[in-house]
Amino acid sequence: MQPTTLWGVDLGGTKIEAAAIDASRPTAPLHRVRLETESSRGYDHIVDRIRTAVEQLASATGLTRPRVIGIGTPGTTEPATGLLKNSNTVCLNGQPLAADLSAALGAECRLANDANCFALAEASFGAARGRDVVIGLILGTGVGSGIVVHGRALNGLHGIAGEWGHNPMCDEATPCYCGRSGCVETVISGPALERFYRERTGSSVALPGIVERATAGDADAGATLARLAAKFGEAIAAVINIVDPDAMVIGGGVGNVDRLYEEATRAAIRKHLFNPELRTELLRPTLGDSAGVFGAALLALP
Ligand SMILES: [Zn+2]
Repeated sequence: MQPTTLWGVDLGGTKIEAAAIDASRPTAPLHRVRLETESSRGYDHIVDRIRTAVEQLASATGLTRPRVIGIGTPGTTEPATGLLKNSNTVCLNGQPLAADLSAALGAECRLANDANCFALAEASFGAARGRDVVIGLILGTGVGSGIVVHGRALNGLHGIAGEWGHNPMCDEATPCYCGRSGCVETVISGPALERFYRERTGSSVALPGIVERATAGDADAGATLARLAAKFGEAIAAVINIVDPDAMVIGGGVGNVDRLYEEATRAAIRKHLFNPELRTELLRPTLGDSAGVFGAALLALP
């Protein structure tokens, strides 16, 4: 059988990565290209940078451009209009990115948000390989996720499937940029945890520093990590009650905190779970920064 070559592009706010992968050996890309996004130069320039990345991929590999190219994006394509929304690279919002890229690249471009690409890659050949239903959590500056069912990312009617970061939490009222208050993201994102520690101590310390201080016996740092476990448990139990996944892979900076993989966190989840036991695996990602571009390439699968 001929190997299937898949092309993917990971569009980030600061860099664009394009890769051609062999579907039978996906973690050894045939070639990859990295460019600065230069997003401050505006929307048309970003489309042009992606075209340049794909041209470089074609000339470096000598391969014919495929009929379909997968693109991971910050933000989501609104299925009803094809316009991008909810992107922190704000010049993309309101633009028909899929249509414009398809015209610029001369290939059908299939777009998915970066959380879906992360989830797809980790579920297909990363930490959660072989599991049927996988949630790839992004727990960093923002909080979101992608849901993969039998190898396919769930997009949803509004393109918001998996957006648990803006679910409301009990007893929380911090205003969120989305216009509501008490969202999960305002409680357990990296900046939210750093703010909690700062309000107790007056010191601004980045999350890895708070983890170090907790290990050294700092009570306020310990309370910050206890809050992470308790609030993550409450927030993610609501997600597990609905999706009941086999595994969750925790990406993003907060995903590096060991506490999330310890019994304290599993106990916090069980406290709010509609089931006496919790068998869902909580896994660390194994693909690193490459998950985005690998997941994008998988969008090109037939
Ligand atoms: Zn919100």
